[in-house]
Amino acid sequence: MKIDVIKKLKEHGLKVTPQRVTILNAINEYGHANIDEIYQKAKATHYSMSLATVYKNVTSLVELNLLKELSLNSFKSKYEIVKEPHSHLVCKKCGSVEDIELSQEIEQNAAALASIKDFEAQDIEVEIYGLCRECREQGRV
Ligand SMILES: [Zn+2]
Ligand SMILES: [Zn+2]
Repeated sequence: MKIDVIKKLKEHGLKVTPQRVTILNAINEYGHANIDEIYQKAKATHYSMSLATVYKNVTSLVELNLLKELSLNSFKSKYEIVKEPHSHLVCKKCGSVEDIELSQEIEQNAAALASIKDFEAQDIEVEIYGLCRECREQGRV
């Protein structure tokens, strides 16, 4: 699902700069991308883009709540454009990240568990770690 990044920036009341648009479009193409991936993709369309510029813009867009940082066990953080709360499938071998929607039943169970601890669940997002199909197929060879 492609996001209109210029609209997204305006919705957040942020200045539309060429750097921001390039970086957000790069992330948009991957869905979830780490700094190196964003840099490689951004540099392809914006050749003067430096790694420092990417880093600085990504950091500020996280602070401005337009990007979300995913801290992944043993992999570099990945970034995605903020959208509806959702969960992730994370491959432990290649670090690929895929969005998934939890079933209502799982969300209700999680909320019930939280309430045992007298906690009101609001957003339920989980990371499921495992192996993607590609990595499993490679392992079979
Ligand atoms: Zn994998
Ligand atoms: Zn995601």
